[in-house]
Order: sequence, then structure tokens, then C-alpha cells
Amino acid sequence: MDFSYTPQEEAFRQELRAWLEPNLREHRAQWGEDEDEFVQHPSSPASLAWHKRLYAGGWVGLHWPRQYGGRGATLMEQVIFIEECMRLRAPAGVNGIGINLVGPMIMHFGTEEQKRRYLQPILSADEIWCQGFSEPGAGSDLASLQTRAIDDGDAFVVTGTKIWTSNAHNADWCLLLVRTDPQAPKHKGISCLLVDMHSPGIRIRPLVQMTGDAEFNQVFFDEVRVPKANLLGKLNEGWRVAISTLSHERGGMRAVLRLQRMVDMTLDLARQRGMSRDPLLRQQLAQLYIDSQTLRLTALRALTRQLRGEPPGPEGSIQKLVFSRTYMQAAQVAERLLGPYVQLWKGSAHAVADGHWAFQSLFARRYGIAGGTDEIQKNILGERQLGLPR
Ligand SMILES: Cc1cc2nc3c(=O)[nH]c(=O)nc-3n(C[C@H](O)[C@H](O)[C@H](O)COP(=O)(O)OP(=O)(O)OC[C@H]3O[C@@H](n4cnc5c(N)ncnc54)[C@H](O)[C@@H]3O)c2cc1C
Repeated sequence: MDFSYTPQEEAFRQELRAWLEPNLREHRAQWGEDEDEFVQHPSSPASLAWHKRLYAGGWVGLHWPRQYGGRGATLMEQVIFIEECMRLRAPAGVNGIGINLVGPMIMHFGTEEQKRRYLQPILSADEIWCQGFSEPGAGSDLASLQTRAIDDGDAFVVTGTKIWTSNAHNADWCLLLVRTDPQAPKHKGISCLLVDMHSPGIRIRPLVQMTGDAEFNQVFFDEVRVPKANLLGKLNEGWRVAISTLSHERGGMRAVLRLQRMVDMTLDLARQRGMSRDPLLRQQLAQLYIDSQTLRLTALRALTRQLRGEPPGPEGSIQKLVFSRTYMQAAQVAERLLGPYVQLWKGSAHAVADGHWAFQSLFARRYGIAGGTDEIQKNILGERQLGLPR
């Protein structure tokens, strides 16, 4: 691995800093400093305003090719962008599912007409996307999905239900997996549709999580007509789209930096509480630090592979697993540091850091489930990498 940056990469960093610092100042002057990324609402007016600013500056869709309105940035430039944003604690933009998952799928599997129609409004966030994969009976075993799409002339008629659909209540469009051939083996009868969330027959029920937020939903489809032109990829080959989407969901430098920040905050908390000399706690803090650095090196190893044009290795699953486990452990260390005070929520006179840690101790659990559970990552590593029996 080469840890240094080229002169071109350093020039990119300087160009970015010259844009980022004044724009962030202006944004904060208007929207305030309350930009803790953990409690930001992904579609809040402040996040949307920041997104529009990034878009106007040409900083959205760095990894997208220029022909589709992106910046065509190299992998290292993308890493530098994330580093700089995290360093300044810049808010994230909106439409992450559209930009990171749906856009690349449309570029890869879509027709020219679909690319012309959908890509630009994804970048500008004029159209917000959600991902309709999981169902009440199909999460880890996604290929068991039952939402069906029946061929009816120029349209598919979709009936069924999706669950845990993040941001569906704000979404204009959905990347939807449906069963188009119930007779075929389960992986072979699935197709992928681009569905207008404003279509008649769609009902959205928000699901309140234990943090009190309702970021995700159950979505009901009752004979929803989806034009055939909205089929993404070939009929009954939606599983390829699903697998490709999931590979974009796991790992990456953003997770590394998010974990480092969580660990740094936990270390700060230990210092503030005067407990950084406690020998048992010191071991736990050291382990958090070691694990976060191990994750960073594993992500860089995956990046090196990518830069050499090699196929992805086991790093995606390793990163997902180490990230979710270490993040959870950091939240648990904070719980031990604060004792019962960790239960005090935002607004309470005695809440530490305005309830940040109360929120974290509940919020942290999501990462071991979303995008493929820890157990599933272990199965992938055990069966595909270590060659263990099922
Ligand atoms: C914050 C968050 C956001 C999400 N956003 C979306 C979204 O936008 N769109 C979407 O489609 N989905 C979304 N999901 C759903 C997520 O993908 C599923 O929750 C996840 O895949 C697990 O599926 P499940 O909940 O059905 O659990 P199940 O698959 O029922 O699993 C239940 C338990 O059994 C274990 N298990 C299952 N199978 C095995 C096995 N073979 N071996 C060992 N253990 C096993 C699991 O690890 C888990 O502990 C989101 C989830 C979360 C937490």
C-alpha cells in the first residue's frame, strides 16, 4: 500500500478546501451549527440546502462519470473529499440511496432513455429515491421476496408489501424488486422496476424506531401500474441488480471515518469524565482505537485492490462486520462511562452532551442489521472465503 498523495491529489484537496471552508461558513450562518450528522434528518431543509450548495459547486456525484453530470473523480479524490468533509464536520447531502445505489445501477443496467430521464434529477435531489428490497418475510433471505408484478399489456401490475424502506415517506421514486416469474427458481424469477412513489395504489406507513424517529416505513402496493419502460435490466434478471446494489452498500471510507469519529468522541468522553486512568477502561478504549485503525487499513487494502483493477475480495464483509461491532462497542463503553445518565434524553437538564449518548446507545444497534446483518457477513466470510461448510 502507498500511503502518500500525489501532487495532483494534493492540488485537488486544496481546491476542495478553498470551496468547502467559506461555503460551510455561509451555510452555518444561515442554518446554524446543529449539524451532528448522527441526529441530522436526511431530508431536513438544512441538509437539502447544503446539498443544493454542493450541487451548484459541482461536488455531488464525485464518482459519477462526467457524461452523466458527475465529477469523474478518481478513487483517491473521493477519499480526500470524505476526509475533508469529516474533518470539518460538514453535513452530508441528501439522496444518498439515489446517488450511491440507484444512479450507478441505472448507469450500468439502464437504457439510454432511462439514463437521460433519471440521472440528472438524482444528482440535483429534485427527485428523491428509496430502495424497496426487504419484505416482512424476506430480509436476509432476500430472494424469497413475494411482491408480485403481473404482465398487463404495456405495464406491470404490482401488488405486495415492502418493509424497512428508508425515507420512503419523502421519496419520489423507488428501486423495487418484484417477482415476475413465480414458477422459476427463486433467484431467477425476480425483476427490478423503477417505480413512481406518487402512483395510485401506494400507501406508506411510517415505522417509529426506538430512538423515536420514523426514518423507515412499510410500503403497501395495491395493483400499482408500472409502465414496462420502467423495467431496469432484463426481465427476470433483477437478482443481478440486487447483488450489484448490495455490493455498493457495504464498507467504504465513509464508514471508516464515521467510526473514527465515534471512537474519538468516546475517548474525549473518558477524558472529560476523568476516567481515562481507569486500567480496565483503558484496555477497552485501546481496543476501540486498535479496531478502528484496523478497519482503516482494511479499507485501504480494498482501495488498493480497486486501484489495481482487481476484483473485490472479502474486505467488504470484513469492513461491515468490524464497523458495526466496534461502533456498538464504543456506544457500550460510553454507557459504562455515564452510568444511568446515559438514559437522559435531549432536553433534560442533566443530559450529557444534550442527549447525544442516549441517542447513540439506541441508534448504534442499526448497523448490525442494515445492509446485511452481522450473522450474514459471517456466513459470507465463512462459506466463500474460508471454504467452511454451510
Ligand atoms: C436502519 C435500517 C435501514 C434499512 N433500510 C432499508 C431500505 O431502505 N430498504 C430495504 O429494502 N431494507 C432496508 N433495511 C432492512 C435490512 O436490509 C434488513 O433488516 C436486513 O437485511 C435483515 O433482514 P430482516 O430484518 O428481515 O431479518 P431476518 O433476515 O429475519 O433475520 C433475523 C435474524 O436472524 C439472523 N439470520 C437470518 N438468516 C440467517 C442465516 N442464514 N444464518 C445466520 N443467521 C441468520 C439475522 O442475522 C438476524 O439476527 C433497513 C434496516 C435497518 C436496520
